[in-house]
Amino acid sequence: MVECKYYSFYALAKINDPELLYEAFQQQIAPGHAGKIEVEVYQYSDQRWNRLTRSGGSDPNISETILGILAQKFGVQDTGSWYYDKAVEGWFCSYKPLTSKHFVLLVKTIDPDKLIEEDYLQFLFHFYCHQLQMLQGTYRDALTGLYNRRAFNEKIPQLLDSSNDYRRRAKNYSPTVYVMLDIDHFKSINEDKGHLFGDEVLLLLAQQMTESFRDNDLLFRYGGEEFAMVLMDITPEQARQTLERFREKIAGFDFPNVEGVTVSIGHTRFDKSLSIDELIGQANAALDYCKKTTRNAVHCYQDLVEQGLVPAVKASRSPSIENV
Ligand code: GH3
Ligand code: MG
Ligand code: MG
Repeated sequence: MVECKYYSFYALAKINDPELLYEAFQQQIAPGHAGKIEVEVYQYSDQRWNRLTRSGGSDPNISETILGILAQKFGVQDTGSWYYDKAVEGWFCSYKPLTSKHFVLLVKTIDPDKLIEEDYLQFLFHFYCHQLQMLQGTYRDALTGLYNRRAFNEKIPQLLDSSNDYRRRAKNYSPTVYVMLDIDHFKSINEDKGHLFGDEVLLLLAQQMTESFRDNDLLFRYGGEEFAMVLMDITPEQARQTLERFREKIAGFDFPNVEGVTVSIGHTRFDKSLSIDELIGQANAALDYCKKTTRNAVHCYQDLVEQGLVPAVKASRSPSIENV
């Protein structure tokens, strides 16, 4: 039986990311059993299964046998179920976070002495799921399933701080565009149709966001009917096109009992020399410009400043220069 390293559970409790479950298993079990355990993570998104690679990417090439097991044994709502497959000689376990994503872990021991017991693996798996669910309750908005304001307040400064160790995946994807999005005339949706229909609009809009943006992008419910996003590895032109497509999609979306829902979107470069207030201020300046002009539009802060349509929020400069 493997020794349980309880002290490391505390560190694992910080995991807010099912992909890191992979590493959690490795760290927890592998030290005493180097090379004797393999963990793979499969993710169901965009109506298909992908295997997550260690670098955080996804690989659609999955063997027929495993695809068959995933399709037959795991419904997309499944969470916490546990299944041993003789042919694969591994345990499959499912995890469904609050978002639309669904994960299945495949844990295989290549341990002829059977030192790693199934009970122990199950225990670890359920422990981690429990931790993740608790964390999700803390960091996710209950109505939309998006990251909440608390997550925003923690994650944005971390992303702005390039010296932060926590950003171990910086090499794989880095924040490039910051976005603020606000539903147009939302108050009148509530007033005309009632709060419940208003909530339905928020929920459906959030679902469209999750479907429209990439898995690596960070989506937040910033407050009421305002949303913030951090788009990873995207050029300003691609961001403009993606956001414009999203704006059109919402303008054409069939919300139940509510017509003409539109959104206004302001975006800016995710410039790490900015303070959080400057970053938000720039995107908000572009969003305000939408609201003062046409609404149902996408505007880029840098373009508006260049055209003299909004004043500069603040020049990019490092705080150390400011203090001189
Ligand atoms: P604008 O186009 O200028 O953004 O106008 P607006 O009416 O969308 O903006 P305003 O900020 O005046 O109103 C936002 C409204 O959003 C007010 C509030 O009642 C509503 N709201 C905030 N949170 C929720 C929520 O969780 N559910 C519902 N149904 N409504 C909410
Ligand atoms: Mg609004
Ligand atoms: Mg608003």
